[in-house]
Amino acid sequence: MAHKVMLVEDEEALALLLKYNLEKEGYEVLWEARGGKVISEIEKNMPSVIILDWMLPEISGVELCKMVRNKPDIKAIPIIMLTAKGEEEDKIKGLTAGADDYVTKPFSIPELMARVKSQLRRAPEPIAEKELIFEDIRMDLVAKKVYRGDNYVHLGPTEFRLLKMLMENVGKVFSREYLLKTVWGDNIYVESRTVDVHIRRLRKTLNQFGSDYIRTVRASGYALDKNPIKED
Ligand code: CA
Repeated sequence: MAHKVMLVEDEEALALLLKYNLEKEGYEVLWEARGGKVISEIEKNMPSVIILDWMLPEISGVELCKMVRNKPDIKAIPIIMLTAKGEEEDKIKGLTAGADDYVTKPFSIPELMARVKSQLRRAPEPIAEKELIFEDIRMDLVAKKVYRGDNYVHLGPTEFRLLKMLMENVGKVFSREYLLKTVWGDNIYVESRTVDVHIRRLRKTLNQFGSDYIRTVRASGYALDKNPIKED
C-alpha cells in the first residue's frame, strides 16, 4: 500500500512538479492549494507525511502546523515546511509551530524527496484495512460485502459507502451536507433529503438482522452509536 503524501502548496506549477515527482517515487499524492480544507482533508485521508507551504491563501502554513499539532488524532503526522523565506527567525518560528523539517525555496527536487523519505522512515507503514467491525456488523472491504452475525446484508453502493463512512468514525455525528459531499461527491447535485432516503434504506436493510445502531441527531445528522437515542 502506497504512503499518502499531503501536499499543501498554492503555487500550481511547483505543486504539479512536486506531485509528479512524488508519484514517480510511488507515493499517493493529495494536493490542496488553499488552507481552508486542509485539516478536514488530513483527518479524512490520514496521510503519512504533510508537505506544507508557509504562505497560503485562507490559513497560513504556520497556523495549519499549529492546528495539526493540537489535534490528538493527527498530531503525530510529520510535517515538512516549505518556505521562500530563508531567515533564521522564520525557521525557528516554523520549528516552534511544530514542523519536523524545514526546506527553503528554491530547493532541488532530489533534496525534498530525500527529506520526505527520511520523515517516512519514522512514520508507521500504512496497514491496508481489510474489514471494519462494529458490534455484530462486519464490513469486508476487499469483497465489499456486509454481514450481520451470519447474515449477508445486501446493500446498494450508496448505502455501502454511507455505512463505511459511519463505521470508520463510530460515534461521530455527520451532517447531511458533509455526507452528501463525501459520499456523493462535490460535483453532483443532490438534495440533502436524499441522504435521509438512503439512511432509511440502509437502516431497513441492516435492521432485518439486528437492532438499530444508527442515531439520528435532529438538525445535525447521523452517527453510528451502540446505544442510539431515538430522536426521530
Ligand atoms: Ca505559497
